[in-house]
Amino acid sequence: MGRRSGDAEGTGSGRLSGKDKPLRPATRVVEGGRRKEWTGAVVNPPVWRASTHLYADSADLATGRPNEDGHFYYGRRGAPTQWSLAEALTELEPGAAGTVLYPSGVAAIAGSLLAVLKQGDVLLMTDNAYEPSRVMARTLLAPLGIETRFFDPLDVAGFAGRFDERTAAVLLESPGSLTMEVCDVPALAAIAREKGAVTLLDNTWASPLGFPALERGCDISIMSLTKHVGGHSDLMMGSAAAGDPLYGKLRAKAQAMGHVVSPDDAALALRGLRTLAVRLNQETSSCLEVVKFLSQHSEIAYILCPLLPGSPSYDLWSRDFIGGCGLFSFVLKGGDEAARARFIDALEMFGIGYSWGGYESLVIPFDPARARTATSWPPSGWDPADRLGIRLSIGLEDPADLIADLEGGFAAMRSAR
Ligand SMILES: *Cc1c(COP(=O)(O)O)cnc(C)c1O
Repeated sequence: MGRRSGDAEGTGSGRLSGKDKPLRPATRVVEGGRRKEWTGAVVNPPVWRASTHLYADSADLATGRPNEDGHFYYGRRGAPTQWSLAEALTELEPGAAGTVLYPSGVAAIAGSLLAVLKQGDVLLMTDNAYEPSRVMARTLLAPLGIETRFFDPLDVAGFAGRFDERTAAVLLESPGSLTMEVCDVPALAAIAREKGAVTLLDNTWASPLGFPALERGCDISIMSLTKHVGGHSDLMMGSAAAGDPLYGKLRAKAQAMGHVVSPDDAALALRGLRTLAVRLNQETSSCLEVVKFLSQHSEIAYILCPLLPGSPSYDLWSRDFIGGCGLFSFVLKGGDEAARARFIDALEMFGIGYSWGGYESLVIPFDPARARTATSWPPSGWDPADRLGIRLSIGLEDPADLIADLEGGFAAMRSAR
């Protein structure tokens, strides 16, 4: 957990924050969280492995400040390695008062929802939410007496009509998981605010570098740090950033649930964070090359990539986002599952696996029909046979090699026809 220094609760120790120095995002990625009292004489904060913090004497113990960030108390409140990561993330998210770290992205979503919902409340959840978020509606929220209603994120006109006096929060994700629809976050969040509901955004795809969520009207900006921030497929972590007073609520709930991340993982996440801007830029440009190649392929019915001019999500993406990444999907023509498997199995450069945002490219098949209730898959107007999805996460390989690999996939698809 980490609050920006010099705020209302006076928790920090005076290092100039991004608020005081108008640094650009790529610079904040490098500078953030590197307070001298945390790094000492070296560049990075050391890995503080600690449960016990020792006090100087009884008086020191008596004046311990367990409820303030940046003060030693006990390991569950973290130590400088975790504080440094949290502060760096806060500095990346304009409008944030602080960031809470969680042991996974799913824990960040669950922890955030539990911080703003109580028995009797209704949550509106986007129909294209990450599937474990959908599962939470049934396994976590329903038993607590919290009802979840799914909605079509592209139906802005109908959105206000979905609220009643019990609606306390809205969970958005843009682009949506797998099907990649970009929704009008500023419009939806403005409606939610007018109705007195809190807007949470799963901002894993863009990160604050691509979509400054709080500036766009959201109240809580959530990320799976497992993806872009970690960036090397070797850690699990999540985060939620918010302004006041929501940050305090997030923090209190996370402490009640005992959430803490290991200092080793925090150090890895910090290492990943330092190259976030260059990795996202490279992935975005490679992604565009791959998408250009795919758009010439007759085996493909639809490319679901907001970065692609002319795609249904492009207009909103280019209006609201200031960056992209390498994650996108496409849909094969004709519904031949064996052909899809031949394509995937022929790829040598794309690992088959969940997750994304690492330095290495990945591929995964998907069939979202079973995970949609407020919208249909395939969408109305499409040939119903065009339903087999493939998601690619473009890594840092040379895009020409990735394209050659995909060429081999198409050849394998055609080979057994
Ligand atoms: C992976 C992912 C998560 C969950 O993150 P974990 O760290 O794997 O728990 C949440 N949202 C989105 C959009 C994701 O892709």
